Amino acid sequence: MVISNSFIKTLNAVAVFAAVFTGILTSSENAQAYTFDRNVPADIATQMRADLNFMNTLQGSQVSALHKEIFGEMNGAGYQQFFESRIKSIGQNACGGGNAVACVIPMMGSNRMFITQNYIKFSHPAIARLMVVYHESRHSEVAHGNWPHATCPTPFQNDRGEDMHSIWTGASLAGEPACDITPYGSYGSSTILLKNISKFCTNCTDKVKMDAGIYADDQIGRITDADAKAAMMKDVFSAK
Ligand SMILES: [Zn+2]
Repeated sequence: MVISNSFIKTLNAVAVFAAVFTGILTSSENAQAYTFDRNVPADIATQMRADLNFMNTLQGSQVSALHKEIFGEMNGAGYQQFFESRIKSIGQNACGGGNAVACVIPMMGSNRMFITQNYIKFSHPAIARLMVVYHESRHSEVAHGNWPHATCPTPFQNDRGEDMHSIWTGASLAGEPACDITPYGSYGSSTILLKNISKFCTNCTDKVKMDAGIYADDQIGRITDADAKAAMMKDVFSAK
């Protein structure tokens, strides 16, 4: 999610009190470029650091063309560089309220991501949490207008005629700003990332690969432009 409208003034007032906690580095070996605000629960910060450290170990046998274009090869060092060059701090914010799980608010700094209570209170697998984190890191890209979402259609149904819901919160997606019309956006790129991990990771457990596939197969439903979806299908979903 990316927020750019007028309630930013209020959010800025909040930000003044959101002092950044910088004393988190516990070892030089694991020195991380990003920091957590004090309003992020300690267990959630620990979990996210562990998630990102796991991501930084991944290796793969190959990648799709779109993965290569966006993320490079499948290796942990490349993923780490991708994330840490984009996100410098992580805080907690309502992100406009409603069903947001996380967001970047450009007026508060494009290299800051925020998680909401929806990120904290719902339990999802590590690879799904990383999907959210990499989704938000894509929103840091000012040169691309922070890759804004597209509005999902109304009604919004899958191939089986079922109403589309968020896999994270269960909320209805019809008419919500929670879709993408390009493979390169936040939903598109994180979906490509997970589908590649599900197919090509060589040092992931079967559970991680299965989870990556489940979430990728769900998220491609949010790509509402037919050409963009076809490009992603050809790139990695239906490719051998
Ligand atoms: Zn987003």
